Amino acid sequence: MENALYVVATPIGNLGDISLRALDTLRGVDLVACEDTRHARHLLDHHGIKVPTLALHQHNENEAAEKLVRLLGEGKSIALVSDAGTPGVSDPGARAVAAVRAAGFRVVPLPGANAAIAALSAAGLVDPRFLFVGFLPAKVGARRTAIEELAAVDAALVFYEAPHRVTETVAELAELLEPQREIVIARELTKLFEQIERMPLGAATAWLAADANRQRGEFVLVVSAPPAREGMDAETERVLAILLAELPVKQAAKLAAGITGQPKNALYTRALELKSGPV
Ligand code: SAM
Repeated sequence: MENALYVVATPIGNLGDISLRALDTLRGVDLVACEDTRHARHLLDHHGIKVPTLALHQHNENEAAEKLVRLLGEGKSIALVSDAGTPGVSDPGARAVAAVRAAGFRVVPLPGANAAIAALSAAGLVDPRFLFVGFLPAKVGARRTAIEELAAVDAALVFYEAPHRVTETVAELAELLEPQREIVIARELTKLFEQIERMPLGAATAWLAADANRQRGEFVLVVSAPPAREGMDAETERVLAILLAELPVKQAAKLAAGITGQPKNALYTRALELKSGPV
């Protein structure tokens, strides 16, 4: 196997979701760097692969990355896997990849399972753009601020969420985002109890509460893009939101009008709306 770091996507539930190329690579490398060696061993054993492993997780990523660079310098080939899905996506890996690239070694991606893309592919939202948010902050204040900041983004929003926070997060999304938006709740993707439900944002809390099983497992939440606003394009909204984060309403509206050429009154009204919460 050629001297390189191979970033290998692994299944997010269904063990069949691994590519032939991923298996060939895992079989052919000198070493597999993995988030959790026991977890990786389960996957490797399942496919009869007997390659040594090395732990690379969020608490040792820098030291482990140094080790990878050293081994690559000795001509070794190394695969990088996380516990599930694509390394570096809400998972360790990005820092190691950066270190390996900075040291001048080749990094080869092996695409495959990813929960966000799987959810989007089955969500049926026609929005042309999406923003991958991943996990929102755990602390309530920071989480609410993050959602408020996302309200004006002209794209579908994709969140990862843990079962113990999903009810709270969904309630906050419903409270802080425009009620016309829809949500797709995708849980346990590729697993036995997979569920993908689309509904108005305002109905999501009741849907989750109706059955305790609906609050179990792993979640991707996809929220449709905000409804198109008459007379105000996404770029104008974006400029206004940035200015509003730093300036009082009147000043933000005036500057936004200067930058975008849109009427000051309309911007002022919209700025007031944004300040008092989305409508
Ligand atoms: N690297 C992974 C990827 O490529 O999707 C993500 C890892 S992140 C630590 C774990 C989160 O991804 C879970 O809390 C959940 O939000 C989402 N996730 C992972 N597997 C999932 C699944 N089978 N169904 C729904 N969401 C999943």
